[in-house]
Amino acid sequence: IGMALGVLFSLLLLSTSWGVAMTTITVGGEELPISNAELFVRNWVKPFGNMFINALKLIAVPLILGSLIKGVSDLKDISKLSKMGVRTILTYLATTLVAVSIGLIIVNLIQPGKTISEETRENLIENYSGEAGKSISNAEKQKENGPLQALEDLIPDNIFAAATDNGNMLQVIVFAIFFGVGLILISKEKSKPVKAFFDGFNEVILKLIDLIMLVAPIGVFALMAGLVVESPSQDLFVALLWYAISVVIGLLLMILIYTLIVFLITKKTPRFFLNGISPAQLLAFSTSSSAATLPVTMERVEEHLGVKEEVTSFVLPIGATINMDGTSLYQAVAAIFIAQAFGMDLDLSAQLGIVATATLASIGSAAVPGAGMVMLVIVLAQAGIPEAGLALIFAIDRPLDMLRTTVNVTGDAAVSMIIGKSVDKLGDPEVKNWDDHYKKEN
Ligand code: ASP
Repeated sequence: IGMALGVLFSLLLLSTSWGVAMTTITVGGEELPISNAELFVRNWVKPFGNMFINALKLIAVPLILGSLIKGVSDLKDISKLSKMGVRTILTYLATTLVAVSIGLIIVNLIQPGKTISEETRENLIENYSGEAGKSISNAEKQKENGPLQALEDLIPDNIFAAATDNGNMLQVIVFAIFFGVGLILISKEKSKPVKAFFDGFNEVILKLIDLIMLVAPIGVFALMAGLVVESPSQDLFVALLWYAISVVIGLLLMILIYTLIVFLITKKTPRFFLNGISPAQLLAFSTSSSAATLPVTMERVEEHLGVKEEVTSFVLPIGATINMDGTSLYQAVAAIFIAQAFGMDLDLSAQLGIVATATLASIGSAAVPGAGMVMLVIVLAQAGIPEAGLALIFAIDRPLDMLRTTVNVTGDAAVSMIIGKSVDKLGDPEVKNWDDHYKKEN
């Protein structure tokens, strides 16, 4: 309802003569034209959306620390941890490879880039080169790194710095696992109070999530309202429709594949799986951030899909950070789309190269809005596709980001169930619905 009302609110605002009338704002000493509707939403509505996203992000680091330390130390012996770790990483890699391959097949069949006219392309590049340029300069930094940089970056030199750096969830995860392992290895007498502390800490964080979720409808309303008034012109949507359709078909196929695999491996029906995870999907859709959605994904997978906390606390934070099937699929489609639009024909080896780079780029993408697009530059650069092509897809990146984030989160949930089943930690979901939980305690 929050989503629908947010869209409706902005459309109504844009349908009034006051709403579409132009005014100006001063940015960096320069006067820029802006509609009344956009200015109003920017000043008075969007801040509530930003506050909601900030609150969710705020909870992400303590959540990972609390739940992962508790999760790892609950495993009691290291062999269990390494067994689950290897399975998790391999399954994540497999789903990502499937996603990239599906993206490539679809974009080669539909060939959306060939429908773009020279004129549209030039217009787009002209309009969006500034913004695309920003993304490019961000990604240039990534390109300068050596081959082992990603590995080197896994080890934080300062846990507080890692926790304050938004893009560095992986370092926090590494620290939490390391800490958990240490906790397993020391004597019971010494580890007991530390474990009790993290147990309580974890409960507090979960309660905070309950509280934040109470205002979710307001946050989602504000986010959607902001998105609608800032959307670019309709022409652009039409010109890029085929590209978007290719991405959407691929993403839908991925959801189908998840439900099938979950059914085959765990015997849980697609309905059960999708019903259980849908609130997390909706939140992923409206926040465009797997990291911001993580708290809800964890709650849904544990309490509604029946995967035990020992598994979710390990598999989901890692998944939110490195398993981005929707992002990798999108990167493959976008790269080929841009190549097609520029009249380039990529042979099989170039396309296989895209499989490799899109897999790595999706692993490297931060779980925040737009990260997949920044990392796309690496895929483009590797395949020799003009990076200015980013300007082509910039206009419709946000809606696609919302959809791919939904798939990213669904993929993490599906893999949790598969891993849960494989280590015997998949049970019947306890009916510990938030609302009941809340009522009982009050
Ligand atoms: N927004 C995505 C996520 O958080 C990443 C991306 O931009 O593809 O999962």
